[in-house]
Amino acid sequence: MIQKNVNSKKLKENINSLLKSYIYKNRNIECCPSCGGKKYIKHGSYKGIQRYKCKDCRKTFSNTTNSLWSYSKKDINIWIEFVELMIQKKSLRFCAKKLKISITTAFYWRHKILHGLKLDSVPKELEGNVHINKTIVIENFKGCRNILTTRRSNIWIVAAKGDED
Ligand SMILES: [Zn+2]
Repeated sequence: MIQKNVNSKKLKENINSLLKSYIYKNRNIECCPSCGGKKYIKHGSYKGIQRYKCKDCRKTFSNTTNSLWSYSKKDINIWIEFVELMIQKKSLRFCAKKLKISITTAFYWRHKILHGLKLDSVPKELEGNVHINKTIVIENFKGCRNILTTRRSNIWIVAAKGDED
């Protein structure tokens, strides 16, 4: 029989940090997030995540700095579920209700994810056979308080993929 003396909160925390270090293991750091300097040295690790120290501004940072999860105090599992729901194009209201988070948090997270995806997924150049496609959406001012124009521009969304995937 399994004894129920395991500290389940501690176990959950460990799973979270394991997930986190796994997710960030292969994330490349290109420069210091504070000053943009390219010279930095390894500076120990915290909960399995490598830390670095900038040789220019002396600040420390890690693989998770400026990433999707960097400032989240919430359970990483909720994050993952949120990302999955976002990929399924569920509404913010739906996500908030399902994950028991506030609409404000859901709104903030969505922006953070969109921003994080941009940082993580834009390579400097594409190689080999490059496939490119575009879609056009009409500009949308939903959420803006003072809209001074009735004009709506076309926004081009261009996606490209090279041999490096
Ligand atoms: Zn720096």
